[in-house]
Amino acid sequence: MVEYPLLADMAERGHEQVVFVNDAPTGLRAVIAIHSTALGPALGGVRFWTYPSEAEAVTDALRLSEAMTLKAAAAGLHQGGAKAVVLVGDPYGPHSEAMVRALGQAIDELGGRYLAAEDVGASTRDMDLMALETPWVTGVDECAGGSGDPSPLTAVGVLHAMRATMRELDGEPSLSGRSVVVQGAGHVGAALVDRLVEAGAIVTVADVERARADALAVHHGVRVVDAAAVLEQNCDVLAPCALGAVLNHETIPRLACRAVCGAANNQLARAADDDALAARGILYAPDFVANAGGIINIAEEFVGYSRARALARVAEIEHTITRVFELARARGLPPGHAAEQLARERIAREGRGRWRPGDPAAWTNGAPLRALRPAQ
Ligand code: NAD
Repeated sequence: MVEYPLLADMAERGHEQVVFVNDAPTGLRAVIAIHSTALGPALGGVRFWTYPSEAEAVTDALRLSEAMTLKAAAAGLHQGGAKAVVLVGDPYGPHSEAMVRALGQAIDELGGRYLAAEDVGASTRDMDLMALETPWVTGVDECAGGSGDPSPLTAVGVLHAMRATMRELDGEPSLSGRSVVVQGAGHVGAALVDRLVEAGAIVTVADVERARADALAVHHGVRVVDAAAVLEQNCDVLAPCALGAVLNHETIPRLACRAVCGAANNQLARAADDDALAARGILYAPDFVANAGGIINIAEEFVGYSRARALARVAEIEHTITRVFELARARGLPPGHAAEQLARERIAREGRGRWRPGDPAAWTNGAPLRALRPAQ
């Protein structure tokens, strides 16, 4: 018998539960990985993606859900980490209503252990459709009581992380007159450029879809460079806001920045790339701390959404990044390793085992967890 080492993988990474969903009438095929509910119900995006194999879909769900646990823990949220991946032919094509609602039903069966959010390939429409089947979905349209697109709040969080980064470098958090290069002018990148210009930074932007960067040049007068040349730009801060694994053994020797602080998930290709950045004297603001504004915003939905409170909590990222840098110095570690220790130590200290539906101890952000909307 060929052994598929899924349980071994789960044990190694500490996953609690992996649910496989197959719904023949709608063609839904999905994997929901719940990494940890030790700090509360597990929050994580739904990713619609075309995977070369089922094994790669499972691996992606395991890896991404573990990262969500660290992100929520470092952000001080009373939530765990999870991820759902849906295997589709065209991630960006319209997803059938029946299939998305079937996913909503599968999420509902988990009774709140998994709180769904938007991720690659998903839209607010998908969230709205799932909300017809389950209350355990976030990011629905603002007019339906949700928090809408998290990208602007993610950008605000990155700006606060950058302030902490500048303070660590120069003892002064202001971004006024600082040079910042933004890679990617998508949802987060464009919103980050808005905030940086407001803060008086000297901004350069690049996107493989040149028109997106050009639109920001027209609007703000920022400089645009070719996407292929973005990493070699001389600057105070490089802000990766495009794809993952941008910091690797090929790119790190070419970087001409003093610090890296951006929104992209999984910026380091390997954990050792954290050491390589430190060896080059480049300060790295760990991605999962810097880009937590989106989930901090979403978490507010479960206690009755307030934009003002969400903004105040997102601003705390500045303090969290500062703590990470302090810990890194105290322990002689690069910041990425320090951030992971910070997150794991909080789980060890405050974790209360497995969260179960109806658990009276359930709480999110210090308030009792409740479904924001009854399923319609
Ligand atoms: P997006 O798809 O809206 O934008 C990404 C942009 O990057 C696109 O415009 C794309 O053309 C561009 N791009 C791709 N490859 C590039 C390259 N090599 N050079 C330059 N530009 C390139 O995505 P987004 O929602 O803005 O997210 C950006 C990153 O931040 C992703 O890694 C995402 O996982 C992460 N993130 C997003 C959020 C959020 O709230 N949206 C939260 C946390 C993390």
